Amino acid sequence: MKTSTRFDYTKFFEEQIYDTKQKGNYRVFKNVVKKTGEYPVVKCNDIDGVINFTGNDYLALSTHPEVVNEAVKATTEMGVGAGGTRNISGTSPYHNQLEKVVADLHHKERGAIFNSAYLANVAAISVLAKHLPNCVIFSDALNHASIIEGIKLSGAPKEIFRHNDVSHLRELLEKHKDATTKLIVFESVYSMHGTIGKIDDIIALAKEYDALTYLDEVHANGIYGDSGSGVTELQGNVEDIDIISGTFAKGYGTVGGYVVGRDAIIDAIRSFGAGFIFTTSMPPMIAAATIKAIEISREKKTLRDAFYSNVGYLKEKLEERDIEIVQNKSHIVCVMIRDSKKCLALSDHLLNNEKIYVQSINYPTVASGEELLRITLTPLHTIYQLDRLVDALSKSLKEIV
Ligand code: PLP
Repeated sequence: MKTSTRFDYTKFFEEQIYDTKQKGNYRVFKNVVKKTGEYPVVKCNDIDGVINFTGNDYLALSTHPEVVNEAVKATTEMGVGAGGTRNISGTSPYHNQLEKVVADLHHKERGAIFNSAYLANVAAISVLAKHLPNCVIFSDALNHASIIEGIKLSGAPKEIFRHNDVSHLRELLEKHKDATTKLIVFESVYSMHGTIGKIDDIIALAKEYDALTYLDEVHANGIYGDSGSGVTELQGNVEDIDIISGTFAKGYGTVGGYVVGRDAIIDAIRSFGAGFIFTTSMPPMIAAATIKAIEISREKKTLRDAFYSNVGYLKEKLEERDIEIVQNKSHIVCVMIRDSKKCLALSDHLLNNEKIYVQSINYPTVASGEELLRITLTPLHTIYQLDRLVDALSKSLKEIV
């Protein structure tokens, strides 16, 4: 009689998790309770009065009274959920208006909104590279997971250029100079190290090699340029980028993502992108709150000024204490630790002993050996809170590292 060996599915995954824990890469989520009016002070893992230095809600618009009011007003008016895909009763005037707002924000012909920027990148990049004839994709080595997923889904051949290395990109473009179409995908602010993409250099190469450019401005939305649309606004090169992707979940404090570009390109993404078509659209109240958040961000440069003043102050104070931070020109402050277990221990120690929440960033978000503490600020952080962070970090680094 034939004996069958049964596969132990549970044990298989238990072993995978065990292995992840052994490597210090197991993710334990902290429970955060925000209160409007008190942010950036939160309750974290049942500890009251914790100062949050981890959010991507860069302008603290998630708790801004006008944004909150708009969400409440639209919820009362239209309910909580959209109740359908964009194609089947899930398009409200707020959705249409938000698409116009993002197109206008970047001076592009058309916009399409998604439930997240993750989804926007996956859908847009996969559609572009799958539909363009014989497309080769050129992608920065530090591009976000959503970009990598979009590339994989497209099935198109890809070349990865070393982070921000335009000579390497040139070599790869030269290798594929006869490809019918080419797509260069990169970011304006790299989220984990805070480096700024070489936008002008890449535009020049794209022109030379007749490539389409796709720029992720997710970590720049709301905070770069006069009206906060992103680094391309600050540098004055938005016209030369073909497609921009962005998020509402960071600088605008709500949730959702978008792409903007020429009418035909965005129409194709909207028409062929499964991540756009086959999912319930974002709640109308989120679209309404986002329109308000973008309006506030565009008008209130003072918010950005206060934000950058905090970032400059913190970097200066950390350097005065000889705390090693990644040298970058962005708002993301990274303290290098280079050890996953120490990085986790530091983050836990700061929370439990100092009521300070900073995020440890470990593999696979960064490469092994490049573990770091990622610190982000808002205009609402006070000098007293920043000084407390610097003191606590300086003390804990001596104890733990
Ligand atoms: N692109 C980059 C560079 C990101 O860092 C992230 C998220 O952190 C995303 C896209 C996805 O954004 P969202 O949170 O809106 O899905």
